[in-house]
Amino acid sequence: MKTLNRSVIVLSVGCSLLVGLFPITARSQEASETTQEKEACIRNLKQIYEALQAYRRDRKELPNWLSDLVPKYLKDPSVLLCPVTRRTGRVETFGLGDPKLTASYIFEFCDAEMGKIYDGGKIKMRDWKRRQMGLVGSAVPMVRCHLHSPVLNLSFDGKVFESADTWENHVRRSGHRSALRAETQSGRRRVSG
Ligand SMILES: [Zn+2]
Repeated sequence: MKTLNRSVIVLSVGCSLLVGLFPITARSQEASETTQEKEACIRNLKQIYEALQAYRRDRKELPNWLSDLVPKYLKDPSVLLCPVTRRTGRVETFGLGDPKLTASYIFEFCDAEMGKIYDGGKIKMRDWKRRQMGLVGSAVPMVRCHLHSPVLNLSFDGKVFESADTWENHVRRSGHRSALRAETQSGRRRVSG
């Protein structure tokens, strides 16, 4: 009887340990999946950067859309898909989706009007970004993936960094930050005026 009791105790302790462990295992699997997806997305961003550089070398300008890189500068269009899109079908492009191919990435220098972004209306994204570059230089993101939290950014000078949705708040030097804020307000005034 004693032995039976002991086995019951061992079993129940074992079970409760297992029950406790399952959520942790699920969480750590999810975390490693998230990390792997982020790393794969960064590899995509770096390939996109190389393709953009090659395009600029040849044509002395940026493309209108990332799909303009395919196939000459980017042979494999699946590089434009973040692994999160492949797993879930989600894209987050805020009205700036590529017109020719499904792409997970927002090309910040695209030829589209800003629309609701910062109430920018008819100001072109690429003109807006050039103005921002006049203030903070090549730290301005060229390509962004909003499928991660924090968001993944590829800057104009090829660096990958994480930020909140509004990367402008993350520009460290406060002078730049207030200049960006002033630029945003003048953009709004232009639209309303
Ligand atoms: Zn991504």
